Amino acid sequence: MSAQTALAPTFDVEKIRADFPTLAREVNGKPLVYLDSAATSQKPHAVIDRMTKFYSEEYSTVRRSIHLLSAKATQAYEGTRRLVAKLLNAPETRQIIFTKGTTEGINLVAHGFGRKFVGEGDEIVVSATEHHANIVPWQMLCNEKGAKLRVIPVNDAGELILEEYEKLLNERTKIVAVGHVSNAIGTIHPVKEMIALAHAKGIRFLVDGAQAAPHMNVDVQDLDCDFYVFSGHKACGPTGIGILYGKVDILEAMDPFLGGGDMIESVTFEKTTYAPIPHKFEAGTPAIADVIGLGTAIEYLQGIGLENIAAWEHELLEYGTKVLSEIPGVKIIGTAKHKAAIISFTIEGIHPHDIGTLLDNEGVAVRAGHHCAQPVMARYGVPATARASFAFYNTKAEIDALGQAIRKTIEVFA
Ligand SMILES: *Cc1c(COP(=O)(O)O)cnc(C)c1O
Repeated sequence: MSAQTALAPTFDVEKIRADFPTLAREVNGKPLVYLDSAATSQKPHAVIDRMTKFYSEEYSTVRRSIHLLSAKATQAYEGTRRLVAKLLNAPETRQIIFTKGTTEGINLVAHGFGRKFVGEGDEIVVSATEHHANIVPWQMLCNEKGAKLRVIPVNDAGELILEEYEKLLNERTKIVAVGHVSNAIGTIHPVKEMIALAHAKGIRFLVDGAQAAPHMNVDVQDLDCDFYVFSGHKACGPTGIGILYGKVDILEAMDPFLGGGDMIESVTFEKTTYAPIPHKFEAGTPAIADVIGLGTAIEYLQGIGLENIAAWEHELLEYGTKVLSEIPGVKIIGTAKHKAAIISFTIEGIHPHDIGTLLDNEGVAVRAGHHCAQPVMARYGVPATARASFAFYNTKAEIDALGQAIRKTIEVFA
């Protein structure tokens, strides 16, 4: 796993922090300690500046016009597609589809693939740790089609039970949809192995990479997944833009998700033929500035190196786990062997929302709630947790600040 690779000696977290204007601000009179990157990441100057430049100097639409600005905008827009293809090691650029985010990517597949290829009595497999975005679209599809949603169970550490997973796969299973990394408890799931098991039975596999693509090297050819989705805003990019990668054969076989301009080849009132991929799935004027901003974000992350990001975040995870484990009353939910830098925790006798509020008083931003993953909360018998999630711009000193703020919180409630 990439998390085990060594950190380059050139990695300088203080230098990196200077790239992020928000990280320099104060909250409630205290320096901001931003530990909510699993919800959304902060943005570097490079991305903000690139988008400002596009809006102030280069703004135009894409694809439709032949004038200079439009040609340039189209070039920049398509440049991001090439950057994403390289980031994921996709064989071809046309396999990269721009969406609004992970949520839309999964909905696109649930509609475009699901409505066409899933029928009554068929089955769809998800895991017990999924984000609601990777549950609800499948549930809606099942309700419409009379298909059945089946769930891979987790053990107490938060690891999927692979023997149970294998038992779920049968001739009625049409697709498996699993998160690469759980946003609620941090488990890195063994998706490569799971994909091979599904493919051995001719079953398609979607990977929800919202928590993985920004934090480690992802190689869709090595994984051999049929679909891979992620969001730009968790990868230092803007909101409102995401990526769907798909294999060519299945993307071509799928129906479009949204109909409209830019996704057609020809339209008459009798019949419409669709544009080839990826445009078949990109109806309407896209989020042009955001796509261009995402390209800059990807270049920024690659400049630091995904292997360095993974290595530093792994150090933060180990340090954070140690700091929190030493505080009496703190319980970490999710103790899988392979984890990303996400620590979900509870404090005995204190509601997670109160933890969130008191930590905020100290300038420490964590998420408190069910993390859009109510089923996994139910699995561990808690309605909610507090969650500290780290990015490559966080420091060990910030984890110390988290530890101190937690101790103070416990004293307030003692
Ligand atoms: C954030 C997240 C999503 C949803 O992403 P959006 O950007 O809100 O569409 C889906 N799955 C996981 C694992 C996530 O962390």
